[in-house]
Amino acid sequence: MATVVFRDVRKAFGSVEVLHGVSFDIEEGEFVVLVGPSGCGKSTLLRLLAGLEHITSGDIMIGERVVNALPPKERDIAMVFQNYALYPHLTVGENMGFSLTLANRPKAEIAEKVGPAAEILGLSNLLDRYPRQLSGGQRQRVAMGRAIVRDPQVFLFDEPLSNLDAKLRVSMRAEVKNLHQRLRTTTVYVTHDQIEAMTMADKIVVMQDGIVEQIGAPLELYDSPANLFVAGFIGSPA
Ligand code: ADP
Ligand code: MG
Repeated sequence: MATVVFRDVRKAFGSVEVLHGVSFDIEEGEFVVLVGPSGCGKSTLLRLLAGLEHITSGDIMIGERVVNALPPKERDIAMVFQNYALYPHLTVGENMGFSLTLANRPKAEIAEKVGPAAEILGLSNLLDRYPRQLSGGQRQRVAMGRAIVRDPQVFLFDEPLSNLDAKLRVSMRAEVKNLHQRLRTTTVYVTHDQIEAMTMADKIVVMQDGIVEQIGAPLELYDSPANLFVAGFIGSPA
């Protein structure tokens, strides 16, 4: 687990700046939801934290370390995407352990990590199946399992549920939260769905057009929105 700090983070693609000085702190073990309309810069901020894009100016810290120049591998972060691509020719267990296989970890160690992760996610009796034999929700769990086995300091989720149907989305929200309650890993969860933000977050960061409009607990934002944008965005159903 670790704290995460964004300090006046700016990001430009060519001459176009898309993040205009974003600053906020995430406490150790906190579940923070980044919410805002499509195109406001949520994924870019996550990708900067993961090291998949270079920061233009400002600082990002994970724990005590400024990670601006660190390659993704050295940041101790695991990311779950919207389009979770599982390897079709690998079993559930092999998919979950794949990053450890790549890192040449011994088989016994991989099994030791995959077993408990599968148990947490209710996948223990599916370890020998192939992705095509799984439901959408089960596949999503395998994608989370891949992240868990790495035992990262920070979990990043980028709209992980947006490909699922409405009913499954609701139950998966609860599963992600259960997972967090068990592991207490610092988590940054991106969504454009207000309900998801309100029901899942310890703390919500509301973004619009590359800036942070307000940060607070769900009820704080609901009761005392800082401006009309936040009021409209948080207050109105999707
Ligand atoms: P969100 O995840 O909130 O929908 P993004 O972070 O994906 O928003 O995008 C923020 C802005 O940055 C958008 O205007 C998008 O078009 C732009 N953008 C994102 N990635 C790139 C890129 N690789 N090159 C140029 N522009 C990009
Ligand atoms: Mg996005």
